[in-house]
Amino acid sequence: MNFNVINDTKEFDLQYHYDGTDLGACVTKCYTSFKVWAPTASNVNLLLYSDGMEQTLPKQIIQMTVTKEGVWEYGVEDNLDGTYYNYEVTALGETHITGDIYAKACGPNGIKSMVVDLTTTNPEGFNQDTFVYDFMMQPIIYEVHIKDFSYDQSSGVESKYQGKYLAFTELGTCIDLDRNKPTCVDYLKKLGITHVHILPMYDFGSIDELGDHTQFNWGYDPVNYNCLEGSYATDVLDGKVRIREMKKMVQALHKAGMGVIMDVVYNHTYTTDSYFQWTVPFYYYRTNEDGSFANGSDCSNETASERSMFRKYIIDSVVYLAKEYHLDGFRFDLMGLHDVETMNFIRKALNDLPNGEQILVYGEPWSARTPAMPEGIYPADKAHLFMLDKNIAIFSDDTRDAIKGSVFLEADSGYVNGKPELASMIPHAVRGWETPSQIISYVSAHDNFTLYDKLILSTTQKQDFISRNEAVIQMNKLCAGIIFTCCGSVFFQAGEEFARTKRGIGDSFSSPPELNMLDWKRAYEYIDLVEFYEALIAFRKTIPVFMSKEKIKDESILFLEQKDPYLISFVVQDENKKQCFIVYNPNEREVDVALPDGEWSVVCDGTSFVKENHSFTGRYSVMAKSVTILRT
Ligand code: CA
Repeated sequence: MNFNVINDTKEFDLQYHYDGTDLGACVTKCYTSFKVWAPTASNVNLLLYSDGMEQTLPKQIIQMTVTKEGVWEYGVEDNLDGTYYNYEVTALGETHITGDIYAKACGPNGIKSMVVDLTTTNPEGFNQDTFVYDFMMQPIIYEVHIKDFSYDQSSGVESKYQGKYLAFTELGTCIDLDRNKPTCVDYLKKLGITHVHILPMYDFGSIDELGDHTQFNWGYDPVNYNCLEGSYATDVLDGKVRIREMKKMVQALHKAGMGVIMDVVYNHTYTTDSYFQWTVPFYYYRTNEDGSFANGSDCSNETASERSMFRKYIIDSVVYLAKEYHLDGFRFDLMGLHDVETMNFIRKALNDLPNGEQILVYGEPWSARTPAMPEGIYPADKAHLFMLDKNIAIFSDDTRDAIKGSVFLEADSGYVNGKPELASMIPHAVRGWETPSQIISYVSAHDNFTLYDKLILSTTQKQDFISRNEAVIQMNKLCAGIIFTCCGSVFFQAGEEFARTKRGIGDSFSSPPELNMLDWKRAYEYIDLVEFYEALIAFRKTIPVFMSKEKIKDESILFLEQKDPYLISFVVQDENKKQCFIVYNPNEREVDVALPDGEWSVVCDGTSFVKENHSFTGRYSVMAKSVTILRT
């Protein structure tokens, strides 16, 4: 019988489930304990090292003892803060030296775990650090990669911090010493977003942390879930530096008025030669009938969130990260590989923290391939949205694709860029598909083409990504105009607001940093577009129905029929009870629209937010490919 068949049973989970919160290395002033759950192991040794380098041999080998739940443990009356360690686990007749899956710190490349007294990693003032956000208010989320953010020389960030956590702590950065051209955090403050979503910063495996800084990867290849990526730290040799610097980053963003969201990838590990596999073989992964690893992630494996000790692992990990790093949200990669119950437990566990309800939880409601979920377990995907907690949101690929076409077919278009007949979908997107607290309205993310590239690819023959294309900029404005006047959370990829291009490369996960980085000069070449986003964000914040997570009342958004069937027009109320009339025109020509009763002044004419003195009654002509906003 295959071993994975033995430990994939309820009986196994019942017999060996361990409820303690002390797994990993716990250190106090005069005591250090090591505990690892490994019920199938026949022996576990603790190996202690003098440093975190891969080649360093143990200075001490200690045999651990086991409890009835299969927890191997060792305790010593000593403060081992800063000591590196591994476990040598013998199970199924194989012996592996493995990192601790519960480790909170590690050495270079996450090979050796490190005992850490976390109180020694807090930057000054971290205990007072706080970010308060009304949990019933929809966030406006900016998705960025740590290296992308500041790798560009023109970011103005000090060169030793370029591409690092600490770039987020620099204020007053600008292009060519020009204070009127702020970059990085100062730029974000001006933009008006509420949360920064950061691509993976847990310890991932695709970058050699001891290698040079030109390496690049998105980081969807987890190694140590509770440790941080070392290549973003200024020093990888000391396991505490990355912790302290990430905390400084969070603290700085909070000071700048923004929440911080962590992208987490519990759905698969970098490889199946993982610390999970070496600690409890096959327990953490779903398998096929023939015993091979199931591969719903399309990254060689998929984890098994429904098993009690992995469910506990994910919940504990998320709660730990939220508390220790003061995080304000989590984005779950391929959430459709997790089960509904686990996601709801995570939500509940976060709610139980002080101000925990404001911690955002959202994810991709799909998997890369069909998950190998056991019977009776429901995937946290789009089809099971109704089973998910109302405060777990999903990326709406329906909104995304209706607006600009499929992400998989580069020439395919949507409502804005060639298929105005998709107009019938748009009101649903505007209404957040009726569950605004669970919907993320967006048109671009790190995956697939940038919005600008997608619009170039789907509407032009020449496919010139470099010279400014006015028609495409106008379509970009319309896309943004729709997204920012939809219910739900709003999310956009960093640089979408300055026509970010990756030269038509969609899957740039390991492309050079020069292709991936935010080109800060471009932000000022396309400043009209940036200002358009800025104004849209400011406008959005004045419209309660867009900013609220409450269920929409029918009268909150009044759609008006226009003669042209492709036009979408509707009225909403702003915070001062003034009426706002919003019109999307996907046509390549101006169109006359019927205004609702009353006098209307223009807020946005489709290319910019304007201050006009004269008002309109009866009819108004909206520009081609535009979002137009008028106010009473
Ligand atoms: Ca790493």
